[in-house]
Amino acid sequence: MTALVQDRLQRPLGSLRVSVTDRCNMRCRYCMPEAEYVWLPRAQILTFEEVTRLVGVFAGLGVAKIRLTGGEPLLRHELSTLVRAIRTDGRVRDLALTTNGILLAGQAAALRAAGLRRVTVSLDTLHPERMAQFARSTRHADVLAGIGAAQAVGFERLKLNSVVVRGFNEDELVDLIEFARARAAEVRFIEYMDVGGATQWSLDRVVPQREILDLLGHHYGSITPVTGDDPHAPAERFALPDGATFGIIASTTAPFCGACDRSRLTADGQWLTCLYAQQGIDLREPLRSGASDAEVAALIRERWMGRTDRGAEERLGLAQRQPLYPVAGLRADPHREMHTRGG
Ligand code: SAM
Repeated sequence: MTALVQDRLQRPLGSLRVSVTDRCNMRCRYCMPEAEYVWLPRAQILTFEEVTRLVGVFAGLGVAKIRLTGGEPLLRHELSTLVRAIRTDGRVRDLALTTNGILLAGQAAALRAAGLRRVTVSLDTLHPERMAQFARSTRHADVLAGIGAAQAVGFERLKLNSVVVRGFNEDELVDLIEFARARAAEVRFIEYMDVGGATQWSLDRVVPQREILDLLGHHYGSITPVTGDDPHAPAERFALPDGATFGIIASTTAPFCGACDRSRLTADGQWLTCLYAQQGIDLREPLRSGASDAEVAALIRERWMGRTDRGAEERLGLAQRQPLYPVAGLRADPHREMHTRGG
């Protein structure tokens, strides 16, 4: 389908990640390491009706892929009700969920019945004691039960997300591939990113795509890239000699901003056009003060059409050069140069 709205780099407004809560029942060291946070006020959290309406507005602008996420989306009461509502919009061709899996066993059947087709479960380690230490959760068995339930209710596709962190789980790559394969799932190794709560991030803890491929190649033999996938998908996929496949999301060492068609809606209705964006635009306020769908659509269209975000590519420079602006960042935006600013 031809994109209805393109940004200034000809990237279509194609997919939307919808966070349904900022709360989480895990404390992964790379994401949300603190015990307590300042939570979004409940009154500001979008209702399911508001989310569904916004999804409809985005769908009218060409967004055909929606992913529900969070925080931990399954902490949102009756999430299957939202799934059912979104599924009634025929323009949404792909609706998926990303979850840590802790509560999935109890909800998989309802989600499937509501029309959810695809699920991604985050699983960084097969060792419960590692999860306890790294994510301060003792519920590893519940995650495995959730994956089992997802398999049992017959989602069309089941993926496992594993963030690879040096010194934590880089020795589990083969085990994770085999675990996924045994469950008709596909694992995606994610490079450790320096976003949001990744306060303990350092470049030496990132296991780059190249190293992941070398490690796996050493074990399995020749690994070949899979061709013909959706060009906007964040993961690059690879095949083992026996045909089993896996993906790598190399946002840190090989960013893919040029192919990015994603934007993000926070649980309180802020819309972000890049994971690294400093701030978004507020869609909740217009919604609640009576704006029409056409007016909300105009806000979205105007923002996307002016978009030039290349956040991960700019961070790539920062990662290499350490805290201050790196050369790549300066080159990307000359206005950061001291002399351009008038010194
Ligand atoms: N709670 C859900 C879950 O665990 O899947 C959904 C939200 S979580 C923020 C979405 C994905 O982001 C997870 O797969 C998680 O591992 C990944 N993630 C979080 N922080 C990350 C980081 N610093 N680097 C790379 N991936 C990260």
